[in-house]
Amino acid sequence: EGWEWYLHQELDSTNAEAQRLLSVGGMRPLVCLAERQTAGRGRRGRVWQSPYGQNIYMTVVVPFDSGAQRLEGLSLMVGMVLVDTLEAAGYKGCRLKWPNDVLLEGAKLAGILVEVAGDLTAECAAVIGVGVNVLMTAPASEIDQAWTSLRLSGQGGSLDRNTMVADFVARLDAAMELFRVQGFAPFAQRWSEYDAWHGLEVKVTAGASVVEGLNRGVTERGALRLLTVDGEQQLSGGEVSLRLN
Ligand code: ATP
Repeated sequence: EGWEWYLHQELDSTNAEAQRLLSVGGMRPLVCLAERQTAGRGRRGRVWQSPYGQNIYMTVVVPFDSGAQRLEGLSLMVGMVLVDTLEAAGYKGCRLKWPNDVLLEGAKLAGILVEVAGDLTAECAAVIGVGVNVLMTAPASEIDQAWTSLRLSGQGGSLDRNTMVADFVARLDAAMELFRVQGFAPFAQRWSEYDAWHGLEVKVTAGASVVEGLNRGVTERGALRLLTVDGEQQLSGGEVSLRLN
């Protein structure tokens, strides 16, 4: 209810288009989809392979009244909603790699990129980009880490992108009602069920620094709780990469 939908054959990036739509018409709930992205991106300007007609490239815009704090944990919550959507489509075993990737059998199936539009102290919006590999069996150029698609998983669930997109938006809409009032806290309680590497030794890289420790899950604000030799450290998202150790 209340969403504007924009469907494109081709865009540079669905997040970039959503940002343009907001800067022209103001903050409002909208969904922007493309069959292909010519400049699809992940975090830190990394490329998101986006071949034509095979995958989901979607941006969902959720307006907020104000407050950076209220966006904490949002990308984790979005990941949980995406895993629920995939499960409902017949795919078991999708798990999250904190803070923003969906893994299936250890390989990257989907990515989430949350950006902010507008002024955090005034009217703003979360620009939630989601890429899901659905039919892709060969990307245009090589992907430098293990990846998979719903088709390659061989699980035989639905491959209907339209149904998955509609279901995802409906689920996100419902989850946002809770998130707006209570933030990430109620979702944090169920994070471990979604966590690909819960209780495992992991290595976190942030620029030149590396922290190793046991993955203990997340705080109510979505920070990663890492048990290191020096005790527990809490890391928030941003420019951080997680690897199995
Ligand atoms: P990391 O994956 O190292 O933790 P990240 O979460 O910041 O880093 P993203 O920015 O979300 O990664 O995604 C970009 C990376 O994802 C690319 O560098 C590439 O390795 C991989 N990638 C690119 N396109 C795809 C795709 N269609 N499916 C799966 N993985 C992809």
